[in-house]
Amino acid sequence: MSENCLFCKIANGAIPSKKVYEDEEFFAFHDINPAAPVHLLLIPKRHIVSLADIQPEDGAWLGRMMALVPKLAYAHGCNPGPQGGFRLVANTGIEGGQEIDHLHFHIIGGARPWDKRAAPAA
Ligand code: 5GP
Ligand code: ZN
Repeated sequence: MSENCLFCKIANGAIPSKKVYEDEEFFAFHDINPAAPVHLLLIPKRHIVSLADIQPEDGAWLGRMMALVPKLAYAHGCNPGPQGGFRLVANTGIEGGQEIDHLHFHIIGGARPWDKRAAPAA
């Protein structure tokens, strides 16, 4: 827990969020300003600023975090199969567009009606 960190406060419930998942290590919730029909944020509960701080010894928990990504994506609206899928984004640092200094994965998906390759709506 880092004082004055918004995502630490969301992870410990001090600031409310639309939670979709929680376990001992991780917390996931809906982005307050979604960029697509599905826009989740997945964070480790422990405060780590960004991917720039990752070391080889972080591999095990980072692997568990990665394994959550498709599970959460498909459980919360991303469509399966080659016509579906999702984007995984981890903005890192100022030039990477990171605004909240607590590591987070954006899980983004849902129908893309503007995409000419997308299947026509049923
Ligand atoms: P970044 O630019 O740091 O990669 O992304 C931060 C994300 O956090 C943005 O997409 C923004 O909409 C989201 N966000 C910022 N404040 C809040 C909040 O209080 N609650 C939730 N659920 N999302 C937030
Ligand atoms: Zn934090």
